[in-house]
Amino acid sequence: MAIDQAGQPHRTGADSHRTGHEPDAFAFAPEAGEANSPAQTAHRTLTVLTVDDDADFQRSLRLALGSFRYQGHAVELLSASSATQAAKILTESPDIAVIVLDIVMETDDAGLRLVKSVREILGNAEVRIILVTGQPGVSSMQVSLDTLDISDYWLKTDLTYERLHGILTSNLRTWEQIRALRSARRGLQTIVEASNSLTRAEDLPDFSGRMVRELARVLGLEADGMMCVQEVNGSDPQTARVVGAAGRFTSCIAKEISRISDAGIRELLVRGLTEQRNIETPVSQVLFFRGADSGPHAAAYLATGRTLDATERELLSVFASNINSGLINVSLTSRLDRLAYEDSLLSIPNANALLRGIESVLAAAAPRDRSLLFIDLDKYSQSCLSLGIEQGDLMLQKMAQRLRMVFAPPCIVARLHDDTFGILGQTAMLRAEYVDKLESWDPEDPTHPPFIGVGASRIDLDRYAGSARGAMAMGTLLLQQARAQGMSQLIDYEPGMERESNRRFNQSRDLYHALHHNEIRIELQPQVELATGRIVGAEALARWTLADGTKVPPSEFVQMAEANGLIVPLGRQVIELACAALARLRDAGHPRLSIAVNVSPLQLSRREFPLELADAIHRHGVAPAQLEIEITESVAMEDHLAKGEILGGLREAGFPIAIDDFGTGYSSLGYLRALPVTTLKVDRCFVAEIGQVSPHLVIADMVIMLGQRLQMQVLAEGVETQAQADWLQARGCRLAQGYLFGRPEPLEAFMARLGPGA
Ligand code: C2E
Ligand code: CA
Ligand code: CA
Repeated sequence: MAIDQAGQPHRTGADSHRTGHEPDAFAFAPEAGEANSPAQTAHRTLTVLTVDDDADFQRSLRLALGSFRYQGHAVELLSASSATQAAKILTESPDIAVIVLDIVMETDDAGLRLVKSVREILGNAEVRIILVTGQPGVSSMQVSLDTLDISDYWLKTDLTYERLHGILTSNLRTWEQIRALRSARRGLQTIVEASNSLTRAEDLPDFSGRMVRELARVLGLEADGMMCVQEVNGSDPQTARVVGAAGRFTSCIAKEISRISDAGIRELLVRGLTEQRNIETPVSQVLFFRGADSGPHAAAYLATGRTLDATERELLSVFASNINSGLINVSLTSRLDRLAYEDSLLSIPNANALLRGIESVLAAAAPRDRSLLFIDLDKYSQSCLSLGIEQGDLMLQKMAQRLRMVFAPPCIVARLHDDTFGILGQTAMLRAEYVDKLESWDPEDPTHPPFIGVGASRIDLDRYAGSARGAMAMGTLLLQQARAQGMSQLIDYEPGMERESNRRFNQSRDLYHALHHNEIRIELQPQVELATGRIVGAEALARWTLADGTKVPPSEFVQMAEANGLIVPLGRQVIELACAALARLRDAGHPRLSIAVNVSPLQLSRREFPLELADAIHRHGVAPAQLEIEITESVAMEDHLAKGEILGGLREAGFPIAIDDFGTGYSSLGYLRALPVTTLKVDRCFVAEIGQVSPHLVIADMVIMLGQRLQMQVLAEGVETQAQADWLQARGCRLAQGYLFGRPEPLEAFMARLGPGA
């Protein structure tokens, strides 16, 4: 600044030589075409505004600036003949770099007022202002020119052609620097914000998408770009995968570079990854990010539509190095991610990964042409038992391999649990024949045993309207049904099947309600002594009748209650009702009858169970010997040590213990002997065999012998014919239960059957 306190202008700038008065300094200016037309340049155009009500001076300026070049580029010249007009132009074109302003126009201080409003009202702190005046000392400079940031103050007569060029050049340079600083400041701000946004990224795809958007934001561009990651260093860059994208490249996500349709972009990304450097084109930027250690290399493509200036390049490099450290972090977290999304035994996707895959399919618009297949390989559990766990794992690995061969990428093969797998892929890839293929011998590996009993369920995601989790649940549900239907079943999802699962959901709610309103009843099925036909006891069977009179089969609601835990209050209620029935029977003169109750594993494993039992018999005044605890064979056998202890306690307390459905589990004789069991109940499927198969093959026979050897009572279930009863009795089976003797019936009917007691 070169205005002294008195406001007297003197020379400033690089040119310290004052050339005295030259009335028309610009007269020497060579003619240089239309000085007022915008300069034709690919570079950003710099604009100079001249403001003067003196038309002659304006003309001279135009002439003088016609040949002016700043860094090889012409400048655009605008002119205004009044402060008012200038203010209007400045409002419309905030990018004007320099104003050459006459102080005295409409009024003596019109120029200074204009400066004030530019700085203070328009808030334009960047534009350089060169004041010129016709007469020295005319203006009474009341304001401090410093505060208005006026660069130069010149007498018109002092402005020679060269001097004007010099002043303009230095002012333009200053303006550019101020600009760069400002955008750098803004850019740094953006980078800080962008980095913050990136640290919120959850995984690599999210990070990459954000990165492209933030990159575009830093440069003030539309977010059109993508980021691809070369998972394995040194692998073919063509196979690098697009992990995140924004704008018109969103559809490229998950594609390999080789499958990006734009050949130019494809080539740029491959070059960036191969040459491991950034590449700049007139319309785009490719940034290379070197991975840390074994971390993946990455490259980003950003459509810029223009070249970047020096400041932007600077910003980009700051941002890129910032991103790079972010990327390293993310590749670290994506290693963690891998832990969360990968099956640790098989190194293939797990249930979470499948869920994520389904989510992204469902997020796309139909037709998605994707299906979901759930497969259950029955062989595994068996081989685990027979081969030991290590061999079992090996087996599982081979299965996974086989599955991946049959359902080749891009299908996702995920292990859900044990020997259950989920596959997500194109609908045509998940055909039933391919599932059948799994069951045959593998011609390439004859040592590989075939899978037996592959159960499967399938959901065409174009026909599915629910959530990803819903699809997983539905697939699992259908798989259970397929399993229940036996070997080699494939169940296809049909829209509306949710109604079935909704029904189940509603049913659990209704069961809950029924339990709380004592709507669960029991029926008693007589147990008889075969020799005499005398009723010695009964089995209590739970019954649930809906308000409309519909009876819900126990097979259905017991299973449901076991699955949702309601079996605990349900079992408690059955025990309560059984004790109440025993009390009524005692009062009716049948004090020695016993009632058997079915007890589920969940009930049995509760610490409170023995106390609740004791409390119930105590309140109803019945003896423990009258309440028999029935547990199924498989339940008794699993975790037999713990079960043995619980059952031992119950037995000590005086409760008889029966093993239900005996013969269907695979009891070890050793375990069985160790369990404090009083009764073996021969499963009714063995009773049904009687008379159907040759006598020495009848399992019931062996069970009866076993019971005798172990000094347990044997009771045959499901006896429907006299022939069965006769056969059983002849073989030494003392007790029986079945439709032949009586169906389950309410207490009143049962009491009527018993007749008057003693
Ligand atoms: P389970 O304990 O094996 O009960 C015997 C089932 O066989 C009863 O079916 C009974 O009605 C039926 N049954 C009896 N005699 C014959 C016969 O001669 N022929 C044929 N075909 N069937 C006969 P239900 O009442 O449908 O009960 C089914 C299963 O539900 C029971 O099998 C038991 O596992 C379970 N369950 C019933 N009540 C309860 C309960 O209170 N608690 C628990 N945990 N489970 C229960
Ligand atoms: Ca039973
Ligand atoms: Ca049974």
